[in-house]
Amino acid sequence: MLILKNTANIFENVKQRNRHEPEFLQAVEEVLASIDPVLDKHPEYESVVRCIVEPERLIIFRVPWIDDMGNVKINRGFRVQFNSAIGPYKGGLRFHPSVNASIIKFLGFEQIFKNSLTGLPIGGGKGGSDFDPKGKTDNEIMRFCQSFMTELSRYIGAYTDVPAGDMGVGAREIGYLYGQYKRIKGLNEGVLTGKGLQYGGSLTRTEATGFGLIYLMEEILRHHQDTLQDKTVVISGSGNVAIYATEKAQQLGAKVVALSDSTGYIYDPDGIKLDIVKRIKEVERKRIHEYVRYYPTAQYYDGCSGIWSIPCDVALPCATQNEIDEGSAKILVKNGCIAIGEGANMPSTPEAIEVYLTHNIKFAPGKAANAGGVAVSALEMTQNSMRLSWSFEEVDKKLQDIMKNIFISMRDAAIAYGQEGNYVIGSNIAGFLKVAQAMHAQGT
Ligand code: GLU
Repeated sequence: MLILKNTANIFENVKQRNRHEPEFLQAVEEVLASIDPVLDKHPEYESVVRCIVEPERLIIFRVPWIDDMGNVKINRGFRVQFNSAIGPYKGGLRFHPSVNASIIKFLGFEQIFKNSLTGLPIGGGKGGSDFDPKGKTDNEIMRFCQSFMTELSRYIGAYTDVPAGDMGVGAREIGYLYGQYKRIKGLNEGVLTGKGLQYGGSLTRTEATGFGLIYLMEEILRHHQDTLQDKTVVISGSGNVAIYATEKAQQLGAKVVALSDSTGYIYDPDGIKLDIVKRIKEVERKRIHEYVRYYPTAQYYDGCSGIWSIPCDVALPCATQNEIDEGSAKILVKNGCIAIGEGANMPSTPEAIEVYLTHNIKFAPGKAANAGGVAVSALEMTQNSMRLSWSFEEVDKKLQDIMKNIFISMRDAAIAYGQEGNYVIGSNIAGFLKVAQAMHAQGT
């Protein structure tokens, strides 16, 4: 149960101002409930809390583009510049039909605390469009990205706001967006991260979110004298995060038995063959059910929530928000799951989190667990500023250190507030304190 004492009035006010934004309110309520006790120790941060829930800026714009048949199409573009207290706004762009102001604001709000937890100087931002990339040709994607950037380019820059990828935005889209920024502004600067390696991208960025998730889970298990070795793992999603979480989990001796996409999931009790998944998703850009064509011994099921009824030791939701509800959480617990790590942003409902915590599941919330992606993005910014490129091993080592430090920060913050093992509270408090100190120092 989320209890608000010091922050109850603030949340009431947020509710009134954002009536039709359920995802944003869900994210805010969780953070306020976690940082509520901080105000007992630091009453001076009350005004900071009132500020932090309001974006510095929300930009909404029209994105006209022409499809291959010559029809004019209109989509809506968004960029929320939520908080710049500790550095330039940083966060991905999501292209998905579900995108609206509520989704972008919840993601931007989460990003403030996630980015703070990385220990690197990056503020919180997020953006995207309700454009659906599914079934579009390469040329349509290019024209959409160019139109989107034509407008977005007015508001971003290497030292002000640095977008990256998210759902529906990968290396191809970042390339088209970067090309258009350069064309319009005439600046060859590190305005985006997740760039191709030939033009300022960082090694390890593609793998970073998935690898980081596994590094953090391994750290948590090690804290309990356990490891991922021989664990059965269920992972939802089959995008960038899920694929590289699978790769690293397998390298550490775990057996990943399931992956999914928005239409259904595959179950391979012998362990997922990742080279085939990579071919289906990264090269052919097809649906996950293609997997059973290659491996008829694997099974495909329609629908997404059924994946959580597969017995596993570790569950890693890497698909989308609110994909695990109370019912699925109870099934995971009943089947003996011991650890859950969020590769996606806010994939567990508040009721699901309540189930994890009351059953002492080792639970790593998204702000900590998927911070590896944005952390390596910040390292890409560093390399761009220095005009050099680090090796894969160098970046991977830095990523491992960052994930280790995130674990220490959230563990210690939870202990400091009498909530040992509660990494929801730990990560929210640790992420908040740095931003609050910066905002306070800057006279907000
Ligand atoms: N979209 C990713 C996230 O949610 C990465 C953002 C970035 O690299 O800036 O953190």
